Parts: sequence; structure tokens; C-alpha cells
Amino acid sequence: MAKVYLIGAGPGAADLLTLRAARLLARADVVLHDALIPPPILALATRATLVPVGKRCGVRSTAQHFINKRLIDAARCYDVVIRLKGGDPMLFGRAQEEIDALVKADVEVEVVPGVTAALGASAELGVSLTRRALSRSVVFATPRVGQNDAPSRWIESVFAADTAVLYMAWGQAPEIARALIEKGKAANTPVAIVEGASWESQTSNLLTLGRLAVSARVVLDPERPTIMCIGEVFREALENFSRAQFSGKTVRRCSAGNQ
Ligand code: SAH
Repeated sequence: MAKVYLIGAGPGAADLLTLRAARLLARADVVLHDALIPPPILALATRATLVPVGKRCGVRSTAQHFINKRLIDAARCYDVVIRLKGGDPMLFGRAQEEIDALVKADVEVEVVPGVTAALGASAELGVSLTRRALSRSVVFATPRVGQNDAPSRWIESVFAADTAVLYMAWGQAPEIARALIEKGKAANTPVAIVEGASWESQTSNLLTLGRLAVSARVVLDPERPTIMCIGEVFREALENFSRAQFSGKTVRRCSAGNQ
């Protein structure tokens, strides 16, 4: 029987894929993939049948139990089955449900890590998420909860760490900023918002929690995933960003290598 590989495709730039992932894609018989996997990465799976199972543009995602079943069925028919996920498969990717279902069905599983969005954003901004004397802890959290799940403790986790990165949060960004300020977070805390980290079309925005709290509801572009990074480590980036705006310079793409 086959092996199923849960593989991280990274945040978007195709060349952030690991060599191990590229080698496995070249051997794959079938690839079940998330939405927004870059075409050059899918193109590496030259022999495989590609099966999209992601959610975009309000279209309902393939139900998780159905994906689990398809993975098990594929493992019974093929040798190399790949489940390709954005970023790292083990962060906010429902990987455990897939692993558990496969193990229960006696299917061997191997996980290949990928660059998660938070680290893609940190690299592009040129801002380290940890920093001597300023940030000794980082939290990856999401306010998003599934139906019938207990409420997320994202507020507590933001307070518990020096730097916080929020996934799947952008649709509620002003509410998030207001909730944090209400609980006592300083309104001048820097926030970096990175859309499409590592993409050619990446945009970054640096502002304070206070400004974000009074901004209009953000219109979501479902084609561009967005991450919110909060903490003092972004102070210098915020000041440079404000200066660039003040001088009339347009800062669309604000990456370490492109300023
Ligand atoms: N497993 C993925 C996360 C999946 S949850 C990872 O490790 O990155 C989906 C969320 O990830 C999006 O809502 C967004 O918050 C974030 N995200 C994924 N790719 C991103 C990118 N290129 N730029 C910014 N945020 C991204």
C-alpha cells in the first residue's frame, strides 16, 4: 500500500518549497491540493492527477471527512499520494484530522514541513519575530473557530507573548484591534499587515493598533491571504513606513530586499 505525504507548499513563492517536497512531487501519482498553491509548484507533479480540494471565493471547501476518505481511497490505488497544503501543513491546516484518519485506516503517513506564512512575512519585512531584550516569545494564533468549537483564547495568547501573529484574522481586523485595546494593549502597539507574503504582488502595511481600530471594515480579497503581526519588534518598520508615506513615496511592496 502507498504512503501519503502531507506536504507544506510554503507561503507562495514557488522557490520556497523544500527540495524534499519537490522530489516527492516529481514521483507523485495523485496530489490533493489546497487553493492558491502556485502553478509552478503544481507543475512539478508531472505524472500526477491533480485534485483541488481547497476553498476560495465563498465556494464551500470540500468537507474534511470527504478529503480524509479520498486520501484513504487514493492510498489503496496508488503508490505516492500527496496532500499539498499552503504554508506548513501542521499549522492551521487540519493536518491532525488527516493523519488520524489515515493511521486509523492503516495508511503510512509522512509529513514534510513548509515555510509558514508568519515566517514568510517576517522574512519579507526584514523584521525578526524574536529580538534580544525585546521579544523572547512568539505566538501563532487565530480568532477563527469552527462550528460548535469552544471560543478561541486568542486575546490571552496575544497578551502572553511578546510578538503575536494572527492567521485567518483579517476580515475582523478592526474588531481585533478594538478588543485588544479594550483589554489594555497600548494603542500605539505596531501592527504589520502582510497580504500575500512572498508573492510577487505582496503588499505590506504598517500601522498602530489604534489606527486599525478606527479603520473601516476591511474588504477581503479572497485571492490574497493576509496575516496580522503585532508587537514592538515592528516599531522601526512602522516608523520607516510612516516616514516614506510622509515624504510622498508610495510603499506598495515593502520587503527587505526591495526597499
Ligand atoms: N498552513 C498555513 C496556514 C493556513 S490558514 C501556513 O502555515 O501558513 C490560512 C491563513 O494563513 C490565511 O488566512 C492567512 O492568514 C495565512 N496565510 C497563508 N498564506 C499567506 C501568505 N502568503 N501571506 C499572508 N498570509 C498568509
